[in-house]
Amino acid sequence: MTDRSHSPRNPIVGTAQGFGVTFKQIFKKPITQQYPEYKRPLYPRWRGRHRLWRHENGLEKCVGCSLCAAACPADCIRVVPAENTPDNRVSAGERYARIYEINMSRCIFCGYCELACPFDAITLGNEFEISEYARDDLIYTKDMLLAEPIKQVPVADPELYDTPIPYYKTHS
Ligand code: SF4
Ligand code: SF4
Repeated sequence: MTDRSHSPRNPIVGTAQGFGVTFKQIFKKPITQQYPEYKRPLYPRWRGRHRLWRHENGLEKCVGCSLCAAACPADCIRVVPAENTPDNRVSAGERYARIYEINMSRCIFCGYCELACPFDAITLGNEFEISEYARDDLIYTKDMLLAEPIKQVPVADPELYDTPIPYYKTHS
């Protein structure tokens, strides 16, 4: 019995099959998404830009323990802790993060930092519009991470744009 599993394929048949895939697309309706006016909904567990959190009383949740930095496979978190004092209480623990930085250009958005944190001080949100022109701008400082993410695209009111029917279609 002849083993046909390694027999050379007829090049004409192969080419025709390849073009068949291309021709099938000609009759399909194109999918054009009007980004940034329309943004596809993200999955609930989608991981994007990080955020550091405070307690309701204003103290930072982060205690500078560096567990997130130890868990980070990309080695992109830098934590420098300092002691809280009666005159300068920053977090609820003994120590706080004097410096907390994430180099976003190295981050792979794995979420290990969020899982490692014992105080839910750091979470990954759903912001993904974080591209920059310079690498230095991708080093997020503690102040940036504690603040609300800046809506970069579009710059106008997102309520006008995060809709199934783009604003420009109903107002032009
Ligand atoms: S998401 Fe992953 S790669 Fe990014 S900072 Fe956290 S642990 Fe590091
Ligand atoms: S974010 Fe969490 S794990 Fe990282 S240093 Fe702060 S308290 Fe520790």
